Amino acid sequence: MSDNRSDRPRWSRRTLAAQAMGRHDAATGAVVSPIHVASTFLRDPDNQYRSGFVYGRPDNQTVREAEGVVAMLEEARAALLFSSGMAAATGVFLALKPGDHIVAPEVMYWALRKWLLTDAAHWGLATSFVDMSDADAVRAVIEPGRTKLVWAETPSNPLWTIADIAALAEIAHEAGARLAVDSTVATPVFTRPLSLGADIVMHAATKALNGHSDVIAGALATGATDDFWARIENNRRMLGCILGPFEAFLLMRGMRTLDMRVRTASISALDLAQRFAEHPDIHEVLYPGLPNHPGHAVAARQMRGGFGSMLSIRARGGERAAIETAAKVTLWKRATSLGGVESLIEHRASIEGAGSPCPPDLLRLSVGVEDADDLYADLDAALRAAHRS
Ligand SMILES: *Cc1c(COP(=O)(O)O)cnc(C)c1O
Repeated sequence: MSDNRSDRPRWSRRTLAAQAMGRHDAATGAVVSPIHVASTFLRDPDNQYRSGFVYGRPDNQTVREAEGVVAMLEEARAALLFSSGMAAATGVFLALKPGDHIVAPEVMYWALRKWLLTDAAHWGLATSFVDMSDADAVRAVIEPGRTKLVWAETPSNPLWTIADIAALAEIAHEAGARLAVDSTVATPVFTRPLSLGADIVMHAATKALNGHSDVIAGALATGATDDFWARIENNRRMLGCILGPFEAFLLMRGMRTLDMRVRTASISALDLAQRFAEHPDIHEVLYPGLPNHPGHAVAARQMRGGFGSMLSIRARGGERAAIETAAKVTLWKRATSLGGVESLIEHRASIEGAGSPCPPDLLRLSVGVEDADDLYADLDAALRAAHRS
């Protein structure tokens, strides 16, 4: 855990991230911090632990350094890194108490939705699913005194619906609940949920924060190091789901280029969304950067500098044409996940399975940093070939 607010330097977040907070190794002068792999630490002869480290499960210096970058990026009081995005998200839910009520989005990351629908009940947690883009609908399902957490995801998988973070924070706080935001898709480059009133931000750091499709990691950042945060920290220690030091190192390296990666991908995503909106074989493009997207106005206010690298297209020829299109691309990679430097295409309904709100004709696109003209040409050719076949 790191606390960077007291001595926040004057450089921009982009600058600080590029230099991983300007750290260097005091012993060697190396401009990159070493990876601390030790699982245990020397006790002083007088039986004390003055270094601040005892054992590798509670924390780790390399993990702390990466947490410092995440906390800085989110303008947070503190951050914690977990062994996956799911470990980070469930870390928040498991800090609740039996009997507590959660409000979560109808459209959200499918594995987390599945966990809330099934496993969460074993911990005595009940969840109401609601349209998070509709503030009145959220207000209507809140049970004051019992609702302890509102969970939002914006833009949300895979329709990129937008939730108004500031409005939700007000609703949650009025009812004595916390607001947590899965900000994986927005990234800290475009949105800082804590500054809009959220209490906790979650990232699947597997995605854009790392950015190279080679790490599974999760992050939480908080505006206050209160009792709730202490429970989350305790759970990470007791359940043993801290991020490994090698993964923390890779994540820190990835975050050095976060700003340029996500800005480039976001510019390409907007360009592709605009061009696909005119495409004869596509009947709808879902991207919050398009003026006709239902969440555009809120997104334009809440996302600063871009609308992110995720969009979905709906094939005019239905499910068969969508699957056929994904089969015919050569440059886009046919794979799940998002936020990497390489562009991915996915027939989302196939992975989400029964009960998914995802239309069968939808292809989810994660735009990387390749040339946007190449990305357009490859997908355009696949769409046309699928239409002919
Ligand atoms: C991938 C993802 C998760 C889960 O992260 P893992 O690292 O796969 O556990 C949660 N939320 C969103 C929005 C995601 O894209």
